[in-house]
Amino acid sequence: IPKVQRAVVTPVVGERLNLQITDNAPVVYPTEEGEVLVRIAWTGICRSDACFSIGPEPGFPSHNHIAGHEGIGRIVRSRDEQWIGKAVATRYMGSTCGECLYCVKGLIESCRAQTSLPKHYNGTFQEYMVAPLKALVMLPDWIFTTPDISPARYTAALCSGSTALNGVRAADPRPGDIVVVIGVCGAIGHLTGMIAKAVFGARVIGVEFPGKKDCFDAVAAEKIYDVFVPVVAGSGEADWEQYLQDLRDACHLLRGSGSEGADAVISTASSVAGFCNLPDLVRDGGSIVCLGYRQLKIQGSLMAGSDSAMRVMEWIRDGTIEPQIREVGLEDVLGCLQGSLDFRNSGKTVVRVAS
Ligand SMILES: [Zn+2]
Ligand SMILES: [Zn+2]
Repeated sequence: IPKVQRAVVTPVVGERLNLQITDNAPVVYPTEEGEVLVRIAWTGICRSDACFSIGPEPGFPSHNHIAGHEGIGRIVRSRDEQWIGKAVATRYMGSTCGECLYCVKGLIESCRAQTSLPKHYNGTFQEYMVAPLKALVMLPDWIFTTPDISPARYTAALCSGSTALNGVRAADPRPGDIVVVIGVCGAIGHLTGMIAKAVFGARVIGVEFPGKKDCFDAVAAEKIYDVFVPVVAGSGEADWEQYLQDLRDACHLLRGSGSEGADAVISTASSVAGFCNLPDLVRDGGSIVCLGYRQLKIQGSLMAGSDSAMRVMEWIRDGTIEPQIREVGLEDVLGCLQGSLDFRNSGKTVVRVAS
């Protein structure tokens, strides 16, 4: 294990992204009981990593912060030697108290005593990461050994995939139902479309910026949505009428008749506009799911427990869904996170961390 490593570091956390790639970040060793050292092989890029890298948010480190929370790797140092070599993953959630009102009700995301990456521990945009064992998800070894499937693909399940699954579960579509997915070309959005179609048998209307329409090839696009509708073009009333008409036309096309709205809408948007006027999009009795906005009374949905991540990994393994992965190097994280703030990223971007 080297003394220094490649990492993406924010030397001083401020109002703007200030990420720097370095080959000389110190490798930190576990000091506390129960901590282990993980060699990160792959890590997903999540828009929240950009948010974690600016601020600083209360409680987050303000100097030498390392973001990244969707990592897959192997334990290389542990006082308890039985863990060495084990395949593990990290997700945003590190640990919860297990005793509070929220934990007892299964709403672990709301536990006030939770620890998380990359808040309490430096994250996965580095080659060697210290983490408490209880903050890691133990993975079966097939994550690294399935023939023809790169472990990069499985990282899509950790945060984006389980969030997508939780959202589709909340929408609860029957086979043949029409689900509108807003932000359908994003990391969470494209997996939401795939799971709605391949697992729940729904038909999907994908809503996205028109410039992203061609970000997936035709074979992949067919597995993500049935009909593509561009996002509302402007903030005027005529723009909104046109958008609603486009959606009604898409529903009519899929049902073969009628002018009713969709059976469900799942917004995976990362802008406020993507959550506006959602009731207009669904028929009476339809469901509205806003991913990432748990405080809404309508229907909140967040990333599920690690069992959901494992479920999605199994679907990836057996080919039920095929995440659209763009593999980049650690040095590309800077541009990718800026890209996520500028709404330029499509599919799931995964960073090759191990050299
Ligand atoms: Zn994430
Ligand atoms: Zn708790």
